[in-house]
Amino acid sequence: MRRSLLHLPIKRSAWAVRTSNVARIAATRSFASEASPKPEIYDIVVVGGGPVGLTLAASLGAARATSHLKVALIEGMNLASIRDWKPTPDYFANRIVSLIPSTVKLLKETGVWKHIDQERVQSYDGMQVWDGMTDARVEFDWNKLLGGREEGTDTTIAHMVENIHLSHGLLKRVEELAVKPTMIDKTKVEKIEYGQLTEEVDMRDWPIVSLSNGQKLGARLLIGADGGNSPVRTFAGIESRGWDYDRHSMVATFKIEDDSAFPKFAYQRFLPSGPVAILPLPGNFANLAWSTTPEKVAHLKSLAPEDFVAMVNAAFRLSYTDIDYLHNLKSGVVEETKWRESVTKYPDPPTIPVRITEVLEGTRASFPLKMKHADRYIGERIALVGDAAHTIHPMAGQGLNAGVGDVYSLVKSIADGISHGQDIGSSFTLEPYQSERYLPNNALLGFVDKLHTLYGFESGPLVPLRSIGVEIINRDWFGLKRFLMSQAAKS
Ligand SMILES: Cc1cc2nc3c(=O)[nH]c(=O)nc-3n(C[C@H](O)[C@H](O)[C@H](O)COP(=O)(O)OP(=O)(O)OC[C@H]3O[C@@H](n4cnc5c(N)ncnc54)[C@H](O)[C@@H]3O)c2cc1C
Repeated sequence: MRRSLLHLPIKRSAWAVRTSNVARIAATRSFASEASPKPEIYDIVVVGGGPVGLTLAASLGAARATSHLKVALIEGMNLASIRDWKPTPDYFANRIVSLIPSTVKLLKETGVWKHIDQERVQSYDGMQVWDGMTDARVEFDWNKLLGGREEGTDTTIAHMVENIHLSHGLLKRVEELAVKPTMIDKTKVEKIEYGQLTEEVDMRDWPIVSLSNGQKLGARLLIGADGGNSPVRTFAGIESRGWDYDRHSMVATFKIEDDSAFPKFAYQRFLPSGPVAILPLPGNFANLAWSTTPEKVAHLKSLAPEDFVAMVNAAFRLSYTDIDYLHNLKSGVVEETKWRESVTKYPDPPTIPVRITEVLEGTRASFPLKMKHADRYIGERIALVGDAAHTIHPMAGQGLNAGVGDVYSLVKSIADGISHGQDIGSSFTLEPYQSERYLPNNALLGFVDKLHTLYGFESGPLVPLRSIGVEIINRDWFGLKRFLMSQAAKS
């Protein structure tokens, strides 16, 4: 039988009492007067079954201290498409995520990684990053830098996995847990409000979640893993600050020329309109993430497949002026790039990616980019994780990695709270999570945002200065390159 914390006497935390307010009392009264079904009570209700919500469900169920908790996960989309995902060897999805070694380590510890088919994962241990205006370059490669990070350690920078593949593995893990969470999909959270005092239980500081299927769930702890527009964050009254970049990320999956003579590297060229990256996939496949203006993305989407392919190859070879010119052509990009490349001097692979030859049908898509950071990650019986807490420009491939880091920190805080006999929704339990994650995430968001700004300049004094900085990093002066690579591997 499921043993949950629900049999424990309910103590209102000092903090919860302190933050009670008139508005809430009003909400409580209106709730009390409604003839609505009684909420079903859970220790933890997770809103959001994206990769971070699923990681959370898997981790809560896998950790000894939390595995007995009564957990519900609510997801608006149909999880069957993830459960029934059937990969084919000649197709890779367009949404790919790069998982850093510390994320993979955590996924291994939780028993998720065994559900990831390694044939569809591409690891890389080298990365070429360069300035599209000055060609100043940093080469991240543990093997070249140190002959390996440390004797016998993994030199991998990241592992490329399709998002759906990761979610499929996470869902498999969740569904094999000894104590399974209640999974409610195809159902939206429509309203969240505080509960009421009843004869059995004082739920005045408990979030009560009303679902589109008419169910109500009461949560000792409500966790928002509900993405950038988090309804949980809105309910908690937590501000999220940031801005739209007025940039979209164009993604696509390609076939590439035979690259067996070269190591599998990731490539990122910083153009003033945004970075363009080619990321390796198994075999002769690769994935594109090109951040640029919405107008340029619309142009890339409108091109015939062969012109689009030519445009992407040009983005790693031609000058920014040439690329800008090509963005004005509705057709004929293949011929135009042939001529321009014949008169341009550019390096050969592996310093730049081998040529792409074909875009997989239906894989061109784009996503608006923004930077947002919540003022706090916790509230009254509330915690936020993943994109609900922070949304970051994808140029560093860190958004999901940071979300997974949040999950493990939060689960550790909840486990510690339980071992000290604390209420899992109390500030005593949740504060360590906030303290551990907020500042590192803030530093990461700030760093990536500054990079975006710095590389947005086409000319002016910052252009040569950033090249000097790149040169200093590339030569590993002051151990800067080593430091950056170590940080990127464990953020
Ligand atoms: C182009 C691009 C490339 C990226 N590349 C990388 C990368 O290489 N590495 C990396 O680490 N990160 C990367 N990221 C970031 C990464 O994709 C996100 O950080 C990650 O998907 C966030 O996961 P999440 O579960 O927090 O949020 P989401 O994926 O947004 O999931 C939130 C879930 O909540 C559900 N939901 C929302 N509201 C409700 C409601 N009212 N009721 C019920 N359900 C609800 C939604 O349906 C959704 O499934 C990239 C992002 C982009 C755009």
